Amino acid sequence: MIVGDLKPLDEISESISNFQKIAIVACGGCVSICLSGGTKSADELARKLAHPRHYRSFPPTFDTTSIQRQCERDFVKAYLNIAPDTEAILSLACGAGVQTVAEIFETLPVIPALNTSFLGSLDAPGIWREKCQGCGDCVLAYTGGICPVSRCAKRLLNGPCGGSKNGKCEISEDTDCAWQLIIDRLKALGRLDDYEKLFPVKDWSPDRGKGPRVMGIDKTRA
Ligand code: SF4
Ligand code: SF4
Repeated sequence: MIVGDLKPLDEISESISNFQKIAIVACGGCVSICLSGGTKSADELARKLAHPRHYRSFPPTFDTTSIQRQCERDFVKAYLNIAPDTEAILSLACGAGVQTVAEIFETLPVIPALNTSFLGSLDAPGIWREKCQGCGDCVLAYTGGICPVSRCAKRLLNGPCGGSKNGKCEISEDTDCAWQLIIDRLKALGRLDDYEKLFPVKDWSPDRGKGPRVMGIDKTRA
């Protein structure tokens, strides 16, 4: 899932300070699971942003609404109703959601309230961890299901490096060495032989090497 984090309130209030009527739009998709984007977050954000201390003159007024997925054009077109006097939309979605809403509401500024952080999963209550960088050429089949691209600080495909110590990465003693995790997992799977194989140089061209990526159904192959 996509993990997002609320921007600092001062940054958000600065970005909406020229508008008097704002629609805060929650997203019910990924970012609601990490407690950043849902209806409750939108109501709480409206309450906090209504405080006059954030503004040089009067605070704007806020409507809050929610849509199941802001990254789907059809959902946004069919279900996102914005009051006619709205001057700007403040979106609690990932960057893809913000851009989709902006494409549909062409004449309204659409402002992000979240920083889109990473693709990850819930590791423990309240802890989401990065697990994938969408590299376009997945190697998990060879690494025991642990991603060295997103979880090794150096993105090494033949690790570990010399900085691995007691199972931890040299960047922090709180960070597991991804390659130690991979070795432990391959051992548990009885596949340590895989670790002996050298990864060839990875083809990074599917990882934005050719610009923004597009995927579509090729109807001629159906
Ligand atoms: S190898 Fe690439 S696609 Fe697979 S999990 Fe890692 S970043 Fe994601
Ligand atoms: S210590 Fe491990 S996770 Fe950290 S950079 Fe080296 S190989 Fe990668």
